Amino acid sequence: MHDKQMGETGIYIHIPFCLRKCPYCDFYSVAETQLGKTESASLKSRFVTALCRETEAAGRKYGRASRNGEERQADTIYFGGGTPSLLSSDEMGDILTAVRKSFSVADDAEISIECNPVTASGEKLKAFRELGINRLSIGAQSFDDNVLRTLGRLHNPADITRTVEEAQKAGFDNISLDLMFAIPGQTEKSWEQTLRKALEPEPQHISFYSLEFMEGTPFADRLEKGRMRETDAEADRRMYERCLEILTEAGFNQYEISNASKGEEYICRHNMKYWSLEEYLGFGPSAHSYMIGADGRGQRTSNMNSLERYLIGWEKSGAAGESAVETFTENSLSEDVCEYIFTGLRKNKGINLRRFRNRFGKDLWEFYGRDVRKEFEDYVSAGFASESDGNIRLTVKGMNISNRIMALFV
Ligand code: SF4
Repeated sequence: MHDKQMGETGIYIHIPFCLRKCPYCDFYSVAETQLGKTESASLKSRFVTALCRETEAAGRKYGRASRNGEERQADTIYFGGGTPSLLSSDEMGDILTAVRKSFSVADDAEISIECNPVTASGEKLKAFRELGINRLSIGAQSFDDNVLRTLGRLHNPADITRTVEEAQKAGFDNISLDLMFAIPGQTEKSWEQTLRKALEPEPQHISFYSLEFMEGTPFADRLEKGRMRETDAEADRRMYERCLEILTEAGFNQYEISNASKGEEYICRHNMKYWSLEEYLGFGPSAHSYMIGADGRGQRTSNMNSLERYLIGWEKSGAAGESAVETFTENSLSEDVCEYIFTGLRKNKGINLRRFRNRFGKDLWEFYGRDVRKEFEDYVSAGFASESDGNIRLTVKGMNISNRIMALFV
């Protein structure tokens, strides 16, 4: 039922440390500013030991064989967080050794690391590159000092440029910049200037996300108390469209709602797994995994959202395994189909109908019926979606109302 080589999997590694918490962020991490230097170093060292144990336990469970008996090979490894660049190159080296010991890693594996300006010196970047890390995703967010202050970021625009230049000197030739728009106080002009500045050092990839007020964050609290205002939907749309125009002029191709690269070779292969509902294993506190069971159904697990409990669990259980997992759910067929469509329609190439049939054993329109097909065709006639070359996809206009179109497939 699955259409791709079953032996391949992505590996996500969550590094749960940040210098300081940004007030809009809901990713799980512990702020170093709340720890002393000694405590921080000791926590990191305990974390790396626990993470290596988790990796090795997963290797024993999944590393040998995929569900059809082939050797399971890791073809992407992604260090996210948190701020992975806060780890030393020795710590990163220990983690990669554990991964390579537990899984066969493809020779051409994409190995990415998220990095924040001011957390990685040229020397550290060089050491990361020597470890085989070949893709850098830099959390730039903005080139406007005021906007960076609003976001509570610790770097300034010059730090971003310096980090990109140092990364290039260290031998990175696959660099992505993460940018944010629709931030309170940010003008459309400031956003345009950020985009132009971001293009100056010639990165190969740009991610562009509209700010979301995530529940439980200080930003959501300020919004609720009327101390912050959301950018109106119309300005948000204009910023998004302007971003696409500027990136297209600069030779980038959008390949997903919020991502564009300078050619196919720079598409983030790891993230494409999420949008194609392919297998990936996640290690570290709060990390998620999606694996396909012997019956073809998706199985999701998520690790506990607490560094403390994660450490205690692995320190107590030693190599017993599975102690980090907090929830396990098995998708029903319709949940898998729904997720496949929701993530698939985020991609510019959309969903290939033949692949859908190979994966789920049934035609997409047979699955959804005539009424949904008719409604989708109405979106096609109105220019919001298209169906050609055996693919269904959203147009740029359709991506602006993606939630409405995707709702058809719930
Ligand atoms: S540095 Fe990144 S992960 Fe850490 S708090 Fe800020 S946005 Fe979140």
